[in-house]
Amino acid sequence: MNDNYKFNTLAIHGAAEDFPYKATSIPIVQSTSYEYKTAEELEEVFAGKSFGYLYSRISNPTVTALENRITLLEKGIGSIAVSSGMAAITVSLLNILKAGDHLITGKSLFGGTYSLFENIFKRYNIKVDFVDAADPSKIKKYIKKETKAIFVETIGNPKLDIINLKDVSKIARKNNIPFFVDNTIPTPYLLRAKDHGADIIIHSTTKFMNGHGNSIGGILIDTGNYNWDTDKFPDLKKYVKKYGQFGFLAKAKHDVYRDFGPCLSPLNAFLTLIGIETLGIRMEKHCDNALKLARFLDKHTGIKWVNYPGLSSSHYLDLAKKQFNNKFCSILCFGMGTKKKGFQLINKLKFVKNLANLGDSRTLVIHPASTIYADFTPEEKEVVGVTEDMVRVSVGIEDIEDIISEFKAALEGLK
Ligand code: PLP
Repeated sequence: MNDNYKFNTLAIHGAAEDFPYKATSIPIVQSTSYEYKTAEELEEVFAGKSFGYLYSRISNPTVTALENRITLLEKGIGSIAVSSGMAAITVSLLNILKAGDHLITGKSLFGGTYSLFENIFKRYNIKVDFVDAADPSKIKKYIKKETKAIFVETIGNPKLDIINLKDVSKIARKNNIPFFVDNTIPTPYLLRAKDHGADIIIHSTTKFMNGHGNSIGGILIDTGNYNWDTDKFPDLKKYVKKYGQFGFLAKAKHDVYRDFGPCLSPLNAFLTLIGIETLGIRMEKHCDNALKLARFLDKHTGIKWVNYPGLSSSHYLDLAKKQFNNKFCSILCFGMGTKKKGFQLINKLKFVKNLANLGDSRTLVIHPASTIYADFTPEEKEVVGVTEDMVRVSVGIEDIEDIISEFKAALEGLK
């Protein structure tokens, strides 16, 4: 496939070659294992001397097609698709971090990611500092000899602060620290993180990539920006020697991914491939609808505050315009002063669904403080920017007139 094709062309045709029968829809290879006629052939594949599929926990043709398509969209050198966004974060970071190492992370994070770093990583003696990465100068103060990775969400979920990736990447590069970017909310359609200095990109494909709420999945992509041939990561040396710039991915495959076992099912890979075909047009509509709903809510007297990067009140407006080419994502948050009012509003919505997901074609709402962040202490909620009155909306691609009418009707008569 010609890499120079534009986004929507690659999203539809990318990595769709070489399947049997010239099937236009990528086949679901629903098989655990792959047979070889002779013991010698199987030995060769196990030894990595010839290429072949062995066992679907390690690789599978449908999953490979998904990896190749996303690699094309991100202009990376390779990817590993996994069973969830959380698995992508875990596999990518544990590929290089071990006890005694130090991670710097932006503090505006999805609840699961915060909990992974704060509870699990720290339990295994990986030290973590949560930093306000929206002010990149703060990161510098935390860098030490043991710092082995810097991690951010491009648009923090649900605080919606926007990280200037180029500025953070300059600090990471200067200190030879790989820069990990969770780009789930912008997707490669709004932002190709490689061009902004990301070394490893992570997506929860559960969200916009799939877009239809039918499969959990994740992926990590090596952009090729970082030179893994460095003394910083002695455990990578033998992989870099054998696989060159693919050393990071090769180690992940042979090590954490293979042995932890978070593989993606072929059916989920197939459903995500179908979703990706319309990612570009869906993102246009998502962003357009979100801006209109944010403006409506912002003017409504029943609403105390609205947080959306596309509003003139947002101090991320200029950065968002520049970084996302005048689009502002499809997530917005607002508050009506109390949790009670938030609940009342949610209970009155009709087709807008109250559930724990985002990035679906349907409009979704959730009260983060009593759900995803219910286990968090008040201090932790403050760190990740969750207030008691916050309602998060993932604006879908229904007709905007209907979405606005739905919120308007639900807001009427609330006490
Ligand atoms: N990253 C972000 C920004 C998320 O919003 C989420 C889930 O909401 C995840 C990662 C985790 O993804 P998954 O639920 O697919 O494990």
